[in-house]
Amino acid sequence: MIFEALSVFPEVFSPYLDASILGRAQRAGIFSFEAHDLRDWTHDRHRTVDDAPFGGGQGMLMKPAPIFEALDDLSARGEKPPHVVFFSPCGERFDQRVAERLSREERILFVCGRYEGIDERVYTLADDVLSIGDYVLTGGELAAMVVIDAVVRLLPGALGDELSAVDESFSQAGLLEYAQYTRPASYRGMDVPEVLLSGDHARVDAWRRSNAIERTALWRPDLIETAPLSDEERARALGIIAQGKGEGERR
Ligand code: SAM
Repeated sequence: MIFEALSVFPEVFSPYLDASILGRAQRAGIFSFEAHDLRDWTHDRHRTVDDAPFGGGQGMLMKPAPIFEALDDLSARGEKPPHVVFFSPCGERFDQRVAERLSREERILFVCGRYEGIDERVYTLADDVLSIGDYVLTGGELAAMVVIDAVVRLLPGALGDELSAVDESFSQAGLLEYAQYTRPASYRGMDVPEVLLSGDHARVDAWRRSNAIERTALWRPDLIETAPLSDEERARALGIIAQGKGEGERR
């Protein structure tokens, strides 16, 4: 998988993308990342990428020309034109389903906005416009790293253990992940559920499923509607939602 970003701050990516699992996945050739400086597609002495909005108003907007020219150039490079992703608080909400869809692309180019936003005409270049949540960030770079992180976890070999990504929240039948514990079995008066110490895999699996349903009903009741549950499981989930409490762990 090839990721590229077009940004006026191309230096901000590497501390995060070169560390830990993402760094290892890059070194293993599972993905590559290249940041392009948008100012390389300007033609004036000040390398200007922004201008004042028509009609007045606060702040500056990113000009269309450098972004159009950069995308012309970058699309002509490489074997295949990239899937172009823009970011905006007005975009489609990024979630695990979108991450799964993007993980099937070969080459993704993120265009990272700054200032008060981007000239609207530039969005004609977008294959996707994504928002990572209902809040306003200073720029699209963090959003690009959020998307890259979530997508890389889905690429074969990235996590080492192929099952890890399958088991996580949202990936497993649209439910949140079950509670997990490590040693010690008892800490500050809080005991790990006995079933997890039993070594009985069938009981452990049943407990995890039940715990995942309970946590989803408590914390994300909106997911219960679409989660594939048996009639019995759905009735229990709806009971938890109505009561506002379950039997197990709390955050
Ligand atoms: N004036 C714009 C508005 O109100 O919709 C916000 C522009 S924001 C200050 C600058 C850039 O940050 C955006 O172009 C986008 O690239 C990025 N950004 C801000 N909030 C974001 C969010 N929730 N999700 C993804 N990107 C975001």
